[in-house]
Amino acid sequence: MASAPIAVVTGASSGIGAATARQLAAAGYRVVLTARRKDRIEAVAAEIVEAGHEAMAYELDVTDRAAVDTFATAFRKIAVLVNNAGGALGADPVATGDPADWRQMYEVNVIGVLNLTQALLPALIASGDGTVVVLSSTAGHASYEGGAGYVAAKNGARVLAETLRLEIVGQPVRVIEIAPGMVKTEEFATTRFRGDTEKAAKVYAGVAEPLSADDVAETVTWAVTRPPHVNVDLLVVRPRAQASNSKVHRELP
Ligand code: NAP
Repeated sequence: MASAPIAVVTGASSGIGAATARQLAAAGYRVVLTARRKDRIEAVAAEIVEAGHEAMAYELDVTDRAAVDTFATAFRKIAVLVNNAGGALGADPVATGDPADWRQMYEVNVIGVLNLTQALLPALIASGDGTVVVLSSTAGHASYEGGAGYVAAKNGARVLAETLRLEIVGQPVRVIEIAPGMVKTEEFATTRFRGDTEKAAKVYAGVAEPLSADDVAETVTWAVTRPPHVNVDLLVVRPRAQASNSKVHRELP
């Protein structure tokens, strides 16, 4: 019996990445979970295996090119790469933003995607039906005050996806961009505000139903499981309460 196709998910230790790994495994993929926190990806992988699916964990920093290249040597064929690792640091205006934060956001959200995509592209092509997913953000499509460093980085990820799609047309690989709006995950806003849970909570204050990690994982899984000739170029998904990055309906006391 042929073995199941492989899906690699970066940043699978929490939030959208962990949810995507669970859903792709349930959809029949052998899932490889990667992130820096080994204990977390091992726990999620164990849970997936416990549920009767196939998963393995591999500790990987997407910004470490040598480590990414070593990781890539383990695979001859890969069906799906989900470039999910990323995030925001700070919410400072351009006038006072820390260049170190900007650099770090560019490293993980753009160079991280570049590293994995370059290293795994031969295996994606070799699969005969590969899919590259880039988790960008609505921040990659419209600017908002206090967001410039993240907006710039996610624009970079968006452009990488668009350009790659142009460059590899004719190869058996799809390039899908998923751009979520507000998603309430345990860590995204807390990481952005460096552990300040009060500031993090304000991001979602009064919003009845922000998207969940599972909502976004469903869109990823839906796009990936379309027939091979169907390329979902871009899927923008927001909660109903969010009409734009800065127009959010909040029911505050
Ligand atoms: P999250 O829970 O903070 O997850 C971020 C993931 O990225 C973690 O698993 C983290 O794992 C991993 N990561 C960070 N730096 C890494 C590195 N250098 N190497 C490898 N992995 C790294 O956030 P999330 O909400 O699930 O977000 C997932 C993706 O969706 C991100 O790209 C984010 O920008 C995007 N997004 C989020 C939202 C939102 O509102 N939450 C909206 C739009 C887009 P380790 O720390 O274990 O390495």
